[in-house]
Amino acid sequence: MFDFLGLLLQQQQPQSQFGETKDLNWQWLDNGILELTPRHAYEKDIVLSAGIHGNETAPIELLAQLCLDLLSGKLRLGVRLLCILGNPAAIRSGQRYIENDLNRMFCGAYLKLGDAEEPRRAQTLEQQVTRFFERHPIQSKRYHFDLHTAIRASLLPTFALFPYQTHAYDQYVLQCLEAADLDAIVYHNAVGRTFTHFSSSNHLAASVTLELGQARPFGQNDLHQFAAIDRVIRAVVSEQRLPSRQKPRLRQFKVIDSIIKTAEDFQLNLTDDAANFSVFHQNDIIATQSKAKTFKAEQLKSELSKPDQESQIVVNEGCYAHQSASASDEQIQVAASNTIQPLTTLDCREQPAYGNLALQPEPENYDYVVSQPQVFILFPNPKVKQGLRAALVLEEI
Ligand SMILES: [Zn+2]
Repeated sequence: MFDFLGLLLQQQQPQSQFGETKDLNWQWLDNGILELTPRHAYEKDIVLSAGIHGNETAPIELLAQLCLDLLSGKLRLGVRLLCILGNPAAIRSGQRYIENDLNRMFCGAYLKLGDAEEPRRAQTLEQQVTRFFERHPIQSKRYHFDLHTAIRASLLPTFALFPYQTHAYDQYVLQCLEAADLDAIVYHNAVGRTFTHFSSSNHLAASVTLELGQARPFGQNDLHQFAAIDRVIRAVVSEQRLPSRQKPRLRQFKVIDSIIKTAEDFQLNLTDDAANFSVFHQNDIIATQSKAKTFKAEQLKSELSKPDQESQIVVNEGCYAHQSASASDEQIQVAASNTIQPLTTLDCREQPAYGNLALQPEPENYDYVVSQPQVFILFPNPKVKQGLRAALVLEEI
């Protein structure tokens, strides 16, 4: 038996690259990448990742302890499992990332970032996840849970983000989110460059990013605060019954817009430490900035099929995404469920960077004015570089 996290922190490898216990075979595939296969029949292939952001320590500790318990036989493995500690260098240095955000590099975005440690790691993670899912292409159901903690406070402390997807949302994942006592689910409305978007779009996995509270340095986490998600993950990997929900109902939101910083004088009408899910009401101004000039017009031109489509380019997760022109605005469907009512499909919608919310263009000034009765702001960050997303705008559903 070996300590998955301990070896990573010490930049060491186990003496052997593979081995077995009474219940499972294990294989050390790379630094921070461990595959566990039951020695009996199973029905699910599950990727569990943490530490894509190196300073988000609590999920890293949970995942490392889970591996220890599976390898020691304390917990019985019921699924084929790929455990990933995402960004080893950043985990060792206690930073979110070293040079660039790893969770903006997937779906091949790393190819544009040159030869550096984090782009190489993104490529390795994509290759390992692809190898893992494609080894048994038909028999098993595919899942990916990517565990994070947030930088800022949140009015709804724990929440899940579903990547934009065209396949139906998985009922079992929704049951897991309920059982884990999460406060909210957010459905993305546009393609991204996140790890879960990669596994969802490339491998049709039921993928979800989990934000589980606020980050603390190693050893300073109150792991009790993460007990509910820990119980659920253990139930998932051992194919045991999910625990019962203890909290009030799970709230659901959809992303309706991305606020893009297009001018240097961009201002968000929130304090720097504003919490996630901060609320704005009808006619409130969320953000102001000068009229966007020709920001990266040359760069974008080649991606545009028509000159007047510039407004349809949105930035999501730090990368340009050209939204599907064929997607319909009426493709949101709600499916019946005994527990919660998930969206089954949520297609890309054509919308400008200032999207569905009424944009009131003054001659040289753009104000972002709320037209809905109430919206919520997620991941506000006015300090992002020009051209990147400064906030997501949500509507409760
Ligand atoms: Zn994170």
